[in-house]
Amino acid sequence: MFIGMDDTDSNERMCTTYLAVLIADALEKEGFGTVSGYVHLIRLNPSVPYKTRGNAALGFEFNPAADSAEFRTKLISFVSGKIIEYAETECEKTNPGAVFIFEENDSELKNRLNLFFKKAVTDLVEIDEAQQLLSQYFIPHLSLKNGRGLIGALAVCGALMNPGWDETYEYLAYRFPEKWNGTAVLPRFVDTNSLIAADKATYPKTWDTVDYSEKKNPFPVCVPGSGDPVLFGLRGESPEVVLEAAERVVSEPVYLSAVFKTNQGTDAHLISVGNVTEMQPLHSYILTGTVVHSSKTNEGGHDIFVIQDQTGNLLECAAFEPTGSFRKVIRALASNDSVTVYGSFKNNTLNLEKIEVLSLTSIFAFENPTCPACQKRMESAGKGQGFRCRNCKTKSGDKIKIPVPRKIKVGFYEVPPSARRHLSKPLIRMKIH
Ligand code: ATP
Repeated sequence: MFIGMDDTDSNERMCTTYLAVLIADALEKEGFGTVSGYVHLIRLNPSVPYKTRGNAALGFEFNPAADSAEFRTKLISFVSGKIIEYAETECEKTNPGAVFIFEENDSELKNRLNLFFKKAVTDLVEIDEAQQLLSQYFIPHLSLKNGRGLIGALAVCGALMNPGWDETYEYLAYRFPEKWNGTAVLPRFVDTNSLIAADKATYPKTWDTVDYSEKKNPFPVCVPGSGDPVLFGLRGESPEVVLEAAERVVSEPVYLSAVFKTNQGTDAHLISVGNVTEMQPLHSYILTGTVVHSSKTNEGGHDIFVIQDQTGNLLECAAFEPTGSFRKVIRALASNDSVTVYGSFKNNTLNLEKIEVLSLTSIFAFENPTCPACQKRMESAGKGQGFRCRNCKTKSGDKIKIPVPRKIKVGFYEVPPSARRHLSKPLIRMKIH
C-alpha cells in the first residue's frame, strides 16, 4: 500500500518530512508492518501560492502486517491521529491531507495518479480534481480544513506508484524537539568547516551543501533557520553518497535522521515552449530567444532584460538581487545575443534559474584612427573633414571600428546554490562545469 501526506507545517514550525519519518517509524514500532524502500520527498510546482516553504509532499510504500478491513481502519486512524497531533492547523495556510492507497495493482489508478503527479509538478491543480479521484477510486483519506494537502498527498502516491523518473537523494538530520519546539528556538550548531570538508569529499556527487560564490566567505546553504526541526540536509546522487557526506558533519546532537528519495535537482517543473504566447503565469519554462534589450540594474538590485521569441513576441527575464553574481552574466548580455532561458513565469516576467548563451553578437566601438607615423591617436580635423595628426601632419578619413571583447562566453550559467529552487537541476548534474 501507499501512504501520502502533505501540508502539515507553518512558515515557522514543523516540517512534513519530519512528520513522515515519525509516522513511518511509529508504524513499524507499533507492529503495523514495514516501510518498503525510501520515504519520498516530492517537490511540486514551486510557484503555487499556497506553499509555506518548498512545496514538498511526502509518502512511502508500506507492507501492512495484516489485510483485514479492521486492520486497515486501525492503520488509517493511527496515521490520521499522528497528523492531527502534529500538524500546525492553527496556521491559516496549513490544510493537511493524507491518502491511503491499498489498490496498489490497479493499473488504471496508477496511470491516473502518474498524470496527476506530473500535473502537480508542472501545473496548477484544483482541490476538486483530487476529491474526484478519491471518490472515483474509493481512496480512504484524511482531510483537515480545506483539505488542499490532498493534492500533494495524491501526487506523491503517483510518484511512488510510477518509479523511473530522474531521482536524487537527501539526507536530513533533525534536532531534538526541545531545541525547536519550545517557546524559544535555540540557535543551531553545525560546524561550517565540517560541511566544507563533507562537500569537498563528495562533490560533485553531492551538491548545494556550501555556497562558494562569495569566494572569501563560503557559507552553508544546507542549514535552515527558524523553528524548522531540520538541522541540516545533504543532497546527492545516491543514498550512499549523502550518508558518506553526513558522517563528516560535526553538529549538535542529532535526534533523528533519514534518507529520502526525491525529485529535487531534476528540472521536472520546466516545460519547453517555442513561443511566449504558450506561457501561463505560475508555471516554469524553457524558451529560446534573442536579446532585444540588455539589462540595467534597477533600484532593488534586480537585473531585467528582454528577449524576443521566434515569432517576435517579447519576454521580460529577471535575475533578482538574491541571485548575486549571476547578475554579472545578465548585465554582460547584449542585443542580438541568442539565449535559452530557464525559470518560472510570474507577473509577466521569467524569474531566471539558469541561462544558456547560445551565441554572442560581435560588438564594435568606433575610435579616432591612429597616426601611421607616430602611432598616436589622431584628432578631428573639423566637422566633416576627417582626422589629422597634429605632429606628423598625416590625415585619415573615417573612425575605425574596434571589436569590443565580450565579458561572457557561450555556455550555461546558473544562479548560486543559495538562490536555487529545490527542483532546479544544478549544472553539475547536467555534466556542465
Ligand atoms: P509542507 O512541508 O507542509 O509540505 P510546503 O512549503 O512544502 O510545506 P505546503 O504547506 O505543503 O507547502 O503547501 C502547499 C499546498 O499546495 C499543499 O496543500 C499542496 O497539496 C498544494 N499543492 C501542491 N502542488 C500544487 C499544485 N500544483 N496545484 C495546486 N495546489 C498544489
